[in-house]
Amino acid sequence: MDAPGLAVLASCQTDGGTGGAAEGRSMMVIEGAPRAVGTVFAVLVSVLVVALLLRGRFHRRIGLVLLAAACLMGFLTFSPMLPNQFQVLLLGKTQQLGIPVPLAGAVLFLFAAMALVLGRSFCGYACPIGAVQELVYRLPGRKLVLRWKKATQAIRLVSLTAFLALALGLSRGMLNYLGIHDFFYIELTWYFLVFAAIVALAVFVYRPFCRLACPYGAILSLAAAGSRFKLRRNDSCRDCGLCEKACPTGEAGAGDLKQECYLCYRCVEACKLGGITYGRAGRRGAGRSPDMVPFDHPSKRKEGT
Ligand code: SF4
Ligand code: SF4
Repeated sequence: MDAPGLAVLASCQTDGGTGGAAEGRSMMVIEGAPRAVGTVFAVLVSVLVVALLLRGRFHRRIGLVLLAAACLMGFLTFSPMLPNQFQVLLLGKTQQLGIPVPLAGAVLFLFAAMALVLGRSFCGYACPIGAVQELVYRLPGRKLVLRWKKATQAIRLVSLTAFLALALGLSRGMLNYLGIHDFFYIELTWYFLVFAAIVALAVFVYRPFCRLACPYGAILSLAAAGSRFKLRRNDSCRDCGLCEKACPTGEAGAGDLKQECYLCYRCVEACKLGGITYGRAGRRGAGRSPDMVPFDHPSKRKEGT
């Protein structure tokens, strides 16, 4: 192991593996930047995405800009890193939060509540960890679609259990062993390489960290199962199945709960009839007809309208 690697490993062993700005020698993260900036960014992005979806004005190019911004936030301020925030709170290393403890807890609760009502817009566009994976999945390459949703969810619940056991039982931070801190701090350690390998895998497999390992994502997924608002089929849908083929998480079926829906918009773009819209659950159709294809739906752009 190289010298920085040894230094970080030693730090993890003595510090309980908490990671965070306190131990970092960052190449990019601006240590003086208030973490609250990331929280405000996350709230704004999550609400903006939902607002645009509700008005039928969302577009993948907008998503691309938001994803790039989320990545930048991650590398420049190491926020909004809610999975890491969750870990730091559990480990009691509260000096690393950058915001008061009650506020940090309230933020975690707020985004879980938002997932319960609006779905996973935070995961979709505000979380730097998810954004990095989402962006690299857009690179060309053969895609391996994991269609066993129950299996991936079960693996992530095991991961959540291990995360809790390590944090509460051994005062260790699992996310640091997966390289989250070192990757965004660009510290070239073995842990950095672990997350770099996960990112490389994400070129071929959609969001492997989110779907298999993220402890906070496991909680948001449970919340999103009952979300009031979600992407749903409307009356224009002819059940052709194109959206289901386009979905990388197996969530585009009419009866799917959208627990693993990252609002990536692939299903909406795949439908030529505007048969999927974001809206309140339990109101299939909600009065939409083929004439009410969302304003910026791909089918409209093709027609040049
Ligand atoms: S699942 Fe976890 S890592 Fe992925 S986007 Fe959500 S909070 Fe971030
Ligand atoms: S394709 Fe549609 S249902 Fe599947 S994850 Fe993306 S937005 Fe959600």
